[in-house]
Amino acid sequence: SYDEFYVKSVIRSLPDWPEPGVIFRDVTPIFKDPRATRMVADAFIQRYINSEISHIACIDARGFLFGSILAHQLNLPLVLVRKKGKLPGDTIHQEYQLEYGSAAVEMQTDSVGQGDKVLIFDDLIATGGTILAACTLIKKLGAEVIEAAALIDLPDLQGSARIQEAGVPVYTLIAYE
Ligand code: 5GP
Repeated sequence: SYDEFYVKSVIRSLPDWPEPGVIFRDVTPIFKDPRATRMVADAFIQRYINSEISHIACIDARGFLFGSILAHQLNLPLVLVRKKGKLPGDTIHQEYQLEYGSAAVEMQTDSVGQGDKVLIFDDLIATGGTILAACTLIKKLGAEVIEAAALIDLPDLQGSARIQEAGVPVYTLIAYE
């Protein structure tokens, strides 16, 4: 069964990366540890097994890892929210502000549409900018965002609060204050 203490012990905290003053929460050791990977996957599967969700939209790049496990286990279609310039074919993109400068995420226009009920999945919510940009794209394509899920929330940065204020419920397993 899910053991938050164990999963937290596997996540690596790297001070001053990628810049001074930031503590980076590194999830890659989870994927080296099948017990931790299974615990996290099972926790999300439990939550979404009998939900109305029709599609999982996972975010470049660490969101792809659990996103694909969940889509496979829940037998749901998986669609990608990528950094701009990576996806072939017809796409739409949405820019968002970073602390310095801006970034953009992109989706293929046929990835979701009218009537689809989408779960957004990423590894971590910081300012919420990435997930809010993904919400904008999914809504522009005519679909509904049912929930945004992530392994980790950094509540001090108020991203999960911003997402909820935009009318999208948020579900996370671990918070770092
Ligand atoms: P936001 O858009 O919420 O400010 O930032 C979230 C995005 O940045 C996610 O896609 C996430 O992968 C990445 N990110 C920001 N900080 C961290 C961190 O400390 N650890 C990890 N694993 N990802 C981070």
